[in-house]
Amino acid sequence: MAENSSMGGPMEKQPQEPEEHLPPQSESYWGSVRFFKHLILAVLALAILIPTTLSIRFGVSLGRTKAELKQLRQTVSTQPAPVPPAGSGSQAAGDSSQGQGKEQRLENGGPEFPAYQELYPDLYAQPAELNSIDQEKTVYLTFDDGPSARTPELLAILKQYDIKATFFVIGREDEESKALYQRIVAEGHTLAMHSYSHKYSALYQSLESFEQDFSRIQNYLYEITGQECLFYRFPGGSSNHVSSTDMKSFISYLNEQGITYFDWNVSSGDATSQAYTPEELVENVMTDVVKYKTSIVLMHDAETKVSTVKALEPMIQALQGIGAEILPIDENTTVVQHIAAANVGKQ
Ligand SMILES: [Zn+2]
Repeated sequence: MAENSSMGGPMEKQPQEPEEHLPPQSESYWGSVRFFKHLILAVLALAILIPTTLSIRFGVSLGRTKAELKQLRQTVSTQPAPVPPAGSGSQAAGDSSQGQGKEQRLENGGPEFPAYQELYPDLYAQPAELNSIDQEKTVYLTFDDGPSARTPELLAILKQYDIKATFFVIGREDEESKALYQRIVAEGHTLAMHSYSHKYSALYQSLESFEQDFSRIQNYLYEITGQECLFYRFPGGSSNHVSSTDMKSFISYLNEQGITYFDWNVSSGDATSQAYTPEELVENVMTDVVKYKTSIVLMHDAETKVSTVKALEPMIQALQGIGAEILPIDENTTVVQHIAAANVGKQ
């Protein structure tokens, strides 16, 4: 009440009095005991709050991740495996069932692939299957022993399907044969050598007799067709048990001449003593073709080989049915040799 007085002046001269009841001045708070008390409390609060907040956040995040993982596991276990074995349907989740699937695939002869590929099958390439039609296959149809009365029939079927083949021919001097050598070349097939005489005893008697026979067929075919033949097939194959001379000396000679020789890895069986039906010849070829990326198919062009002619059309259809590419032998063809010429060298 006194300060409300109109006297004024003397009251104003004592301003210190009320200030004595105030807490310490703000300029003295920094560095004071109170400041350090507050600082310690704040630090303690942060030390508790930060880890707690982080723990809650990570806890929630972990929960979500676990839920996603569970969902993915369920998806994987209900989806078919990349190459499901026959008879195995959708499986309940669990490692044991996946293990079983793997065993089944192995029993079926299929390829094995690691378990981690089953989690995200879309990320991995499909393993190549033995019988897969997706695998690119190149097939070379080869006919030995021609030309013959069957050659025009074979050529007609090949023309109909626009397929080029390889004819390993022997020396025949009649006019029909001469015309057939020319026709084989003119129609885009590969004309190749199969000896002149095809008489094992004379041909394989010595290196000298082999050289004579080779020169004879090479020159003869060049005379008639104007084409140099680059490929050779030994009568009976390089692995024949007829030759008394080491086959390697003949192979060495061919190497010197720059001639590549071809055996076969697929046999139609048309030269065996068993008389196969055309269907069986096709079956024989198809059974083996699925095993190889490059197949050299052995067939014969001879007057008596009527079944081979009958088999050719369904064989082409079956090969095209599995997506195989049918080509004539050329310098890019993967060699199929029972005795590797590269290991024999030259003399
Ligand atoms: Zn032959």
